Amino acid sequence: MAEPRALTGWGRTAPSVARVTDPAKADPVEAIEEVLASAGERGVVARGLGRSYGDAAQNGGGDVIDMTGLDRIVDVDLARAEAVVEAGVSLDRLMRTLVPLGLWPMVTPGTRYVTVGGAIGSDVHGKNHHRDGTFGAHVRAIEMVTPARGRVTLTPESHPDEFWATTGGMGLTGVVHRATIELLPIETSAIRVDSWRTTDLDQTMTLMADNDHRYRYSVAWIDCLARGASLGRSVVEFGEHATRDDLPAAKRPAGRALRFSPRDSLPAPPWAPSGLLNRWTVAAFNELWYRKSRRHTEGHVVPASSFFHPLDLVDGWNRIYGARGFLQYQFVLPDGAETVLRSIIEDLVEERAASFLAVLKRFGPSNHAPLSFPSAGWTLALDLPVAYGPLAGLLDRTDDRVVEAGGRVYLAKDSRVRPELLETMYPALARWREVRDRMDPRHVMSSDLMRRLPALAGPTHRAVGSGARAHPLAREEGLVTGGAGTRGGDR
Ligand SMILES: Cc1cc2nc3c(=O)[nH]c(=O)nc-3n(C[C@H](O)[C@H](O)[C@H](O)COP(=O)(O)OP(=O)(O)OC[C@H]3O[C@@H](n4cnc5c(N)ncnc54)[C@H](O)[C@@H]3O)c2cc1C
Repeated sequence: MAEPRALTGWGRTAPSVARVTDPAKADPVEAIEEVLASAGERGVVARGLGRSYGDAAQNGGGDVIDMTGLDRIVDVDLARAEAVVEAGVSLDRLMRTLVPLGLWPMVTPGTRYVTVGGAIGSDVHGKNHHRDGTFGAHVRAIEMVTPARGRVTLTPESHPDEFWATTGGMGLTGVVHRATIELLPIETSAIRVDSWRTTDLDQTMTLMADNDHRYRYSVAWIDCLARGASLGRSVVEFGEHATRDDLPAAKRPAGRALRFSPRDSLPAPPWAPSGLLNRWTVAAFNELWYRKSRRHTEGHVVPASSFFHPLDLVDGWNRIYGARGFLQYQFVLPDGAETVLRSIIEDLVEERAASFLAVLKRFGPSNHAPLSFPSAGWTLALDLPVAYGPLAGLLDRTDDRVVEAGGRVYLAKDSRVRPELLETMYPALARWREVRDRMDPRHVMSSDLMRRLPALAGPTHRAVGSGARAHPLAREEGLVTGGAGTRGGDR
């Protein structure tokens, strides 16, 4: 049974109402086929846990397939270190099941609350991109339903074009219902961390560039409010999976070493006033957090969850940004564009665009997926409250510099990029459209993201979902029907 629901991304901007189907209540693959076959002119998109920040998993006036009920771990092959899973299974559930068996997902983003389908759709990256590439690089098979070809099984060898168009394809090639994923054998559930507190951006970047190759994981948490000589001061962390020898003797037996029981999330405090995070609270937090970090530590052993997913401790932390929500802005710049990166950070700091979190990472080479975000160089991710006045103009100017330097923004985080920039940011977009058009010539797969960025549909094609007529549900609810996005600060 499909039900109307208002949906947003994690940033809580641009809600839209769609008819939401839960295929797990019936024969799931048949139910997915039925939704695709009966889709109206606004089309269909699959949704995981809705952790993309913008409108990628929304489809105002159309259909959305809620995949989270398809959460079975179908098979685990310990010898081959791989698992067959349904697409709606979360990384949280995977870790709770697999870590005690000595296995870890090859790539995890900054939250465990993403589904395997969502991780494939956005081709997510983690702190090990420089070493291991994206999530998609470790997917051995995708089982999906496509509008033109029905049920298909794709591997990088059997159907390279379709496999890589689906990896990072933002759900626009069809609906993934099952995947076979490669896993990493581990001895313990802990991470051994070496960390440095740096005094400025040069030191941060030199430390990262010189040491990345020595560690599987690396990340810098930048204090984006420090100015002048302290610009870019950071806490830089490098991590490796701890071995049993890294643990105190009492914790070495396998049963204890592989225990994985991250605390369930605590709710965001109900007293938190709307818009709690403003320039002053952010500045105070950044200062406190920077000062509390020691100048240099080596071999500090911490639970994996606190190294990878510190934000998961607070449920619904995205509400702290107030009713208008927030944007996450993430871009990548190629190696050699360090001066551009510096001047972008300078401008953000100068404009005092408060950011609770600013994360700098190094990426390794890109993969074969035409819409995959990562490419060799530097990536910076910032949270910015929409209520911040000059945001739209500031980010538009930043986009221009990113494009000029050969970089791009991340679609899974985006809710506001200017549509005309997409082709330049993603030069393989035309190749992706060709493959997508073979898998879905009528553009049954559609989303608010696709309507907001028409280059995803193509220059001449009138997508199934691009008609002016919205689904009656959306009109009844009187909500945005999608495709408007949020420009931030200009509403
Ligand atoms: C706190 C936080 C930290 C994050 N850190 C990172 C990070 O470090 N690295 C990173 O890369 N990303 C990061 N993200 C973004 C997040 O990993 C991606 O947006 C991811 O796609 C979310 O997964 P989801 O299951 O919530 O998918 P959704 O947000 O529901 O959907 C994302 C996309 O995948 C498609 N999709 C979902 N399920 C399917 C399916 N079964 N078949 C086909 N398509 C499907 C959707 O249509 C949509 O286009 C972070 C997000 C948050 C909130």
